[in-house]
Amino acid sequence: MRFFTLALGAACSLACGSAIQEPPKASEQPAPPSAEAPSAVPGNAASCPRAAALDRKAISEELVCLLRQYVQIDSTNPPGNELQTARFLEQVLARDGIVAELIESAPGRANLIARLKGQSPGHATMLMHHMDVVPASAADWSVPPFEARLADGYVWGRGSLDNKGAGVAEIIAAALFARMGVALKHDLVLLALADEESGGAAGARFLTEHRKAAFDDVELILNEGGGMLVLAEGRPPLYTVELAQKAPLWLRLTARGKSGHGSAPTPNAAAAVLSRALGRVASHSFPILVVPEVQALFAARAMAMPEAERAPFLNLSSALQNPAFRARFSEDPHDAALVQNTVAITMLSGSAKENVISEQASAVLDVRLLPGQDPKVVSAELTRVMAEPSLTLEPILSWQAHRSPRDTPLFAAIERLAHERHPGAPVSGNVIGSFTDCNAFRAIGKICYGFLPVQIRLDDIQRIHGKDERVSVEALTDAVVDLHALISMLGS
Ligand SMILES: [Zn+2]
Repeated sequence: MRFFTLALGAACSLACGSAIQEPPKASEQPAPPSAEAPSAVPGNAASCPRAAALDRKAISEELVCLLRQYVQIDSTNPPGNELQTARFLEQVLARDGIVAELIESAPGRANLIARLKGQSPGHATMLMHHMDVVPASAADWSVPPFEARLADGYVWGRGSLDNKGAGVAEIIAAALFARMGVALKHDLVLLALADEESGGAAGARFLTEHRKAAFDDVELILNEGGGMLVLAEGRPPLYTVELAQKAPLWLRLTARGKSGHGSAPTPNAAAAVLSRALGRVASHSFPILVVPEVQALFAARAMAMPEAERAPFLNLSSALQNPAFRARFSEDPHDAALVQNTVAITMLSGSAKENVISEQASAVLDVRLLPGQDPKVVSAELTRVMAEPSLTLEPILSWQAHRSPRDTPLFAAIERLAHERHPGAPVSGNVIGSFTDCNAFRAIGKICYGFLPVQIRLDDIQRIHGKDERVSVEALTDAVVDLHALISMLGS
């Protein structure tokens, strides 16, 4: 039975995790590292059980053991330290005789690539995840963020959901082919990446630039970014497959003026110019633009609504012309961000002293562009809106957003999985407001989908990058079985 019956919009508060205050039982403690283990390899993967077949109990024991050790390796980015996580995963794969290559991109930073051979060359499928995590402030958490506590059927810890749980599920799903003696038609590639949380310069973007040939035969890629969303109790979940994402355009604004004493201000002091410009940016709205993938997503979501409420979501572009509907729709900032470019003011700096007017003041804008938008055009729009010609504006990070097509064997396989696991479940393409490593692989022509067959409660999604991040052991166990089935469908 599926654990997840939460309806869309219903959100459990963080108090749901109150039972986690219980100390873990001794049997739930990770095995101590063996004295013989080389100190350079963290964890003790060899101590974890291995599922020999598609047996949910055995799979869940293996994934809990591996995931806890993986989470316990602190790969907070910065600095990342993914060489440690890569060495751990190398040991995990070695248990099945799968040889991995570690590709170092910077001191202490590495990516891992491994390959399970198929019977015929070409048409490889790749499962990828990222090993780095965002910082966690222990004082805010109910549990130590790198303890990887097992409680209430969840593994708790930074990275458990984003994205180490997926990495462990991918490895077990792949290894089960070897363990069960099932031949793969084509190669299956496993990729563990560094630096996703900072844009991938030491990870996906490094590899697609310096090791592009390693992916020549890869046609289809599965990555984070989508999954199974339960919209209403008693209804099949909505399968969302991320086909496109917004692209970051990070801009540094700098104002310069005369320095002086705070008691004798002038209207064109650097901080004053910057503040006027930022005031105009803060009240600026980009035009509404509904791209086809976003329309498809809301049309699919509408199917879970009462019939009388569906119509505006079936033609979102025209419905958003109505100010009342637009105001209601924009109440959710995540939804609002899917129908327009956005800009957030994120960093500010000026004088270091209360009574000193500084020569320079600066700010950072985090702009996110819809697919198809030109960063140069949007920068020019912002320059016009700010209307302070003396300001300089320089890009810190600027990508073009790329899409993957929907009409592929991988999308067909996901639809087949949905049909078999949840008859009647809709499968929708999606656009996400954040960015993932898929964009770098789409840029070199790969079909990369944000989809892992895992059901996640909405309140658990909200913990990603927040406090008390956790992943359901039952959902992750199901994900191993479903991922294994999906790969089988592609190879059949
Ligand atoms: Zn992630």
